[in-house]
Order: sequence, then C-alpha cells, then structure tokens
Amino acid sequence: MIEGLRETILKFVADGNDMLSVIVGQEEAKRRILASLLASHHVLIEGPPGVGKTTLAKHMAAALPPIKVVKHCPYHCHPEQPVCPQCRAKAASGEALHGVTISGEKRFIRLQGSPDLTAEDLLGDVDPTQAFKYGPQDHRAFVPGKLLKGNRGIVFFDELNRVTEKLQNALLQVLEEGIATIGPYDVDYPADFVMIATMNPRERAGVEELSDVLLDRFDVAKMGYPESPEMERDILLRHGLRMDGIEVSDEIINTVVALVRATREEPWEKEMDQAASVRATLSLYEKVQALARLDNRPEPTLDDIREMAPSSLGSRIKPSPESKFYDDPLGLINELVGSVMENRKR
Ligand SMILES: [Zn+2]
Repeated sequence: MIEGLRETILKFVADGNDMLSVIVGQEEAKRRILASLLASHHVLIEGPPGVGKTTLAKHMAAALPPIKVVKHCPYHCHPEQPVCPQCRAKAASGEALHGVTISGEKRFIRLQGSPDLTAEDLLGDVDPTQAFKYGPQDHRAFVPGKLLKGNRGIVFFDELNRVTEKLQNALLQVLEEGIATIGPYDVDYPADFVMIATMNPRERAGVEELSDVLLDRFDVAKMGYPESPEMERDILLRHGLRMDGIEVSDEIINTVVALVRATREEPWEKEMDQAASVRATLSLYEKVQALARLDNRPEPTLDDIREMAPSSLGSRIKPSPESKFYDDPLGLINELVGSVMENRKR
C-alpha cells in the first residue's frame, strides 16, 4: 500500500468533495476507480483514446501528500527504512542518508506501452562501463528501469495491451510481489506502487490481448466519451483556449460538438474504426477562433468549421476497412461535415 493514498481519498470523501472533478461526467467509472484505489488495487481503465485517462491518473498523483525520500535515491527509499541496494550499502558503511521531501506530482511516472518496450526499459539494465569498473554483479553497475522509479507512488501505464507477452510476464512478477528480481543480481529491488493502466477497447484492430493472469491483477473500469452534448460543451468551455477579442457563438460551439460527436454515433460510427475524441473537439474549437483572428474577424463562422474540420478531425479518426472511405479519411470528414451541417439547418 502506498503512503497517503487511502488518507487522501478519505479526506475528499469526508469533505464531501469529488476528488476526480477534473473529469466531467463518467460518474460510474470514477466511483469504481476510487473504490479500487481505496482498496489499494491496481486499476485497468478500458476506453478509447482521449477520454481523460492520463488526466485522471496525474490528478490522483498530484493529490498525494509529499513524502520523505533519500536524496538521489532513484527508488525513493525512506531515509529510515532504506530498501534498495544502493542505500543499504551506504547505510552499512556508516554513511548518513540525507532525506529530502518530494511532492505528490513527483510520485508519478508514466510508461507508454508499445511492442518495442523491453524488459530492460521497464526493469533496468547493466551499464557496461560501470560493470567493468565495479564488476557486473555490483549494484553500482545497475541502471534502474522506469518502473522501479515508481516505487512509493503511482505508475501510469498507458496502452498496457500493446506490450509483448514476455513483458506482460515480467510485469506480473513485480505486481504480484511488489519487488523486482533482476537477472544477475541476487538482490531484490523495491517496486511498491499502485498501477493505473489503460487499454483500448478490445474490439479495435491491431491490439494485443492481455493475458488472463495479468488481467487478474487488476480491477477493470470503463471510461467512454462524454455522455451528453452538454457535458462535451462543458469540457470545451473549461479546457478549450479562448482567444482574446474573439467571440464564439453558441451556434459555433454546438456545431463543433455535434460534428465530433457524429463520428461516434450512427450512421457514421460504422464508418469509423476510431471515432474522434474530445481532443478533436478542443482542436476544432481553438482553430476556428485562430482562423477568425488571422482574418481580423470578431467571430468564427460555420465556413471556418468547414475549412478546419479536415485538419482537426482527419488525423484523429480512422475509417473502418468496410468504409468506402477506408483510404480517404479527409473525404470521410468532408462528407460528414456536409451531412451534419445540412441536418442542423433543418
Ligand atoms: Zn534507496
């Protein structure tokens, strides 16, 4: 269990505050995630890109209280209870372990899942120069991987389902035991953290399956796109940049929202292998303002939306293999824009 996580969540509950108010809507997912974290379980959030998974994990870490760590210890050892080989060797030789305080934000590390990610990236590797100097079995020759730097904090593992089966197995041992045993070393490295991992929806093409044994280590929660146009509008107004001197009418805001939401709904949903996320909504909202500014106009128009939609949405959607627009995302966007604008006129 990591220090302060439970206390932090309970404090928000006692004060009657929504700890995850940074995420608009998604009430059921937020409840589940908080319950899992309160129970010190690892959480796997399933959902499409751009629904706020990273924001949520970062926010959890930032809310954690500061902790005392040994200065320069990559594993964030507690000065009074050093656990890593480096600090223990120092303590054994009578060297004082200087403590410094780090903030909650510093107790957060982010890993990006990809087929190229190796066990060495994750757990660590031997530095040949140091190994030559101290001998290969010496802890000073070991360069810790990113996962070990998450000790006593939150590890955010984005797109966990993109890593190889071999890596999933390596991770399993760490999650099960809270320690990492590294190849030639007969010492264990501390790896006590809470993992918040994400996974794209299973039906999407090009995605590996997570092994059942690894899945078994996680509580699963699902997050989706904003539930209603009103919520999406709310997100836009809270997080979208406003350009000075530019007025944005309700009509423009509602059209931007309707356009992006159309990629997730029938009849367009079946044309998409990946629909557009809130990032597309924000991008389009900001770009139409920029265009008005460039032209010295006081407000963006529907024509600005037509002009900017392909660049804001085109790279964020993927046409499905069944769609006649499979090789032509911009064609798909143009068709969609035409149809949505036509419908809104009625
Ligand atoms: Zn240490």
